[in-house]
Amino acid sequence: MLGAAVPATGAGPCLPMLSHVTAELRNWSGTYQFTAHEVITARTVDEVQQAVAKAKAGGGRIRAIGTRHSFNDLADNGATLVSVAGIAPDPEIDEANRTVTAGAGMSYGALATWLQDRGWALGNLGSLPHISIGGATATGTHGSGSRNQVLSAAVSGLQYVAADGELRHVDRTTPDFAGLPVGLGAFGIVVRLTLDIQPSYLVRQDAYTHLAWDAALEDLDAIMDAAYSVSLFTDWSGETLHAAWVKRRVDDATADVPEEFFGARRDPGPVRFIDAPADNLTVLGVAGPWAQRLPHFRLDSTPSNGDEIQSEYFVDRRHGAAALAAVKREAAKITPLLLVSEIRATAPDELWLSGSYQRETLAIHFTWRNEPDRVNAVLKHVEAALEPFAPRPHWGKVSHVTAAQVAEHYPKLADARDLFARLDPDGQFSNQRLERLGVRAPAKAQGGTSKRQR
Ligand SMILES: Cc1cc2nc3c(=O)[nH]c(=O)nc-3n(C[C@H](O)[C@H](O)[C@H](O)COP(=O)(O)OP(=O)(O)OC[C@H]3O[C@@H](n4cnc5c(N)ncnc54)[C@H](O)[C@@H]3O)c2cc1C
Repeated sequence: MLGAAVPATGAGPCLPMLSHVTAELRNWSGTYQFTAHEVITARTVDEVQQAVAKAKAGGGRIRAIGTRHSFNDLADNGATLVSVAGIAPDPEIDEANRTVTAGAGMSYGALATWLQDRGWALGNLGSLPHISIGGATATGTHGSGSRNQVLSAAVSGLQYVAADGELRHVDRTTPDFAGLPVGLGAFGIVVRLTLDIQPSYLVRQDAYTHLAWDAALEDLDAIMDAAYSVSLFTDWSGETLHAAWVKRRVDDATADVPEEFFGARRDPGPVRFIDAPADNLTVLGVAGPWAQRLPHFRLDSTPSNGDEIQSEYFVDRRHGAAALAAVKREAAKITPLLLVSEIRATAPDELWLSGSYQRETLAIHFTWRNEPDRVNAVLKHVEAALEPFAPRPHWGKVSHVTAAQVAEHYPKLADARDLFARLDPDGQFSNQRLERLGVRAPAKAQGGTSKRQR
């Protein structure tokens, strides 16, 4: 078994676990209805261990659930789900090693605020600070910035409840560790993570509107490399993109920024180029702490009504402009169904199931209207347009890619499947999605899922 056993922490007497039937449990956007019949909200690691041991004894499936921000059946299993959000996160900084260790159920936003208050920082954040660290890292969630890796690449250690119910610790010195940070919930229930940190820093973000498509395709690399984080927003129609959202690390809160960005003009705001009220978005035009500028959505607000479906594909940045041009040719089909698309860059990493595994990546994201049938139809065209560029789908978003395509585009898939099979030989942590995509072998006989999508 991979990983050193962690001694019991003296969690105290066993408390009854909270559980409920999930008749109406849906994902954050309400577009996926879970089929699991029980969600256990564990309040201690011991309760997670008990739940896993009970599932093992009964031959049933069990799986971690985060904040339910994924858009497909990845977190579901038709049986029992465990949330670790009720376990006290107890973040701890190790200044010498520049790491923080915290509970997997803690949200990125809560951790970011906690770190910032102590003068420390994470290297990057996703657009939404409300997602759990455990769930976000498990799917390779990324922010933006051509020199920033996916959030999972900051994971230097994990504590997880393994298939035998034991608590184990793994870190970068553990063989095959690279298969675990983007673990898709497939090998155990992660209860604590250790993440790389750095001293706190300031970020200023500015919006530049009406970037010409010609400039974007001509200068794509220079645009994506132009700042700490660059996001391009578009609906794919017309001659210009809506905006470039540019986040710069600055040493001085009064530092000036250029008024022009590859021909686009700085818009002092308030701007509303994504589907959220302007006051739900983090502040533009004034430098501030990293935790309040790197996410697009403010921690203290609800990001949008959530009535949406998301898809995202990662392509090799060398072919980024060609991939964008191919998608743009499908604009007539895409635009009527789209709320907005966001184009970002990420740096390569070594994590086996990361969308940026060993390649400079362009991430092409779609936020769709909540019209599943029409979205499914248009996705076939988007995926056909992207297929020449070896697209890797985001694990937590809607796509139609097949097991064969996943195997072709994620070169370490077979190694990950072998690793998960070693760690979880009975497929306790597996589910139908992992089996459909070839991440886990088909189950012998545990509780399955039958997807119900609104
Ligand atoms: C508004 C919005 C904005 C988003 N922005 C971004 C973005 O900027 N970049 C990006 O890449 N993605 C983005 N996403 C996608 C999101 O980050 C992923 O879907 C992420 O996995 C959600 O985390 P979660 O905690 O909700 O996990 P869930 O959706 O609940 O679960 C996802 C997976 O993680 C596993 N998991 C959860 N907790 C644990 C645990 N403790 N141990 C082991 N496995 C676990 C589950 O089993 C499941 O397989 C966004 C989603 C939304 C709704």
